[in-house]
Amino acid sequence: MLKIITSKSQFIHERNSYTQDINIGFVPTMGNLHDGHLSLLEKALEEFPVVVFTIFINPKQFGPHEDFKKYPRTLDADIEKIKKTLSSYSMKDVLVFAPSDPQEIFPQDSNLKVSVHKLNSILEGELRPTHFDGVTTVLFYLFKIIRAHKVYLGLKDYQQFIIVKKMIKDLQISMIVEGLPIVRESNGLAMSSRNQYLDEKLRESSSHVYQTLKRLKVMMDFRKENLSLVRKQINTIKNQSSGHWNYLEIVDSETLDYDLTKSDKATIVAAYQQGHVRLLDNVQLEFKK
Ligand code: AMP
Repeated sequence: MLKIITSKSQFIHERNSYTQDINIGFVPTMGNLHDGHLSLLEKALEEFPVVVFTIFINPKQFGPHEDFKKYPRTLDADIEKIKKTLSSYSMKDVLVFAPSDPQEIFPQDSNLKVSVHKLNSILEGELRPTHFDGVTTVLFYLFKIIRAHKVYLGLKDYQQFIIVKKMIKDLQISMIVEGLPIVRESNGLAMSSRNQYLDEKLRESSSHVYQTLKRLKVMMDFRKENLSLVRKQINTIKNQSSGHWNYLEIVDSETLDYDLTKSDKATIVAAYQQGHVRLLDNVQLEFKK
C-alpha cells in the first residue's frame, strides 16, 4: 500500500497507527528520482514491512547562490516510480512523506543547528560551508518524527554518509545506517538529479571522472607503499585540469583524514566542475595486510 502524506500532523497520525513493535526503514531524498534513489527503496523494501520515503527539498542545505529555486520538482513522476518499484513487493507499505512547506519540518521559532564539527568543514564542506549542517539539522528532525530502525543512504555522497553515521553515534540514536553502492549511467557517470543540467556532450565527457578514479585505484594496487606515487599522479592530474577538480584526494574511509598511517581502508573522493554542475564521485580502496 502506498500513502502520500504532505503534513507533519498527518504523518504522525499514520506513524502512530502502526503497532509499537513495527520495524521501519527510512529513505531520505530530495526527489527527482533516478535508479540510485530507487536502489535504496528496493533495499529498504526487502528488509522492512514499512518504508518511509521522504521527498523534501531542504532549503537549509543550499548555499545562498545555489540552485534551491530551480532544483527539479517532479513529485508526480516520482510517485509513479515509487509505485512501480512497490508493485514487486506485495504486503509492504510505503509512506511517502513530501512536506508541502519547510515549516512542516522546522518549527518556526527554532534556533537549533546540528553540526558534526571538523568533518563538516573539509572537502565538500570547504566549498559549501553551510551544507552539511543543513543536512544534519533536517535529518535530526526527520529521525525524531519518523522513528525508523534503519536509514539507507547512498555512498555517492560519501562524506555525507560518514557525517550522518557520526551524528547518529554522537547523539546515541539507536538506528542502523547503511550506505549502498553508487548506481551509474552506462558510461560510468554516477547518477545524480543535477546531471540533467548537463548537455549531451558534457554528459558523455563526464565519464572521465570515474575512469580517472578507477585508474588511480588500479595504480594503488591494494598497497599502501604506492601511496606517495599515486598522490604524485593525483597532483599531475590536478595541475593539467586547469582547476576543474574541486578536490581529488585519498582519505581514510572512516575519519576522512589525509594521514593513512593507521588506515585499513581508504577512499578516493572527488568533485569535478563540469560546466555548471559539480560531479561527485568516489571509489573505495583496501590495503593488503
Ligand atoms: P538526494 O536526493 O540527492 O539528496 O539523494 C538522496 C539519497 O540518494 C542520498 O543518500 C544519496 O546519496 C542517494 N543517491 C543519490 N545518487 C545516488 C546514486 N547514483 N547511487 C546511489 N545512491 C544515490
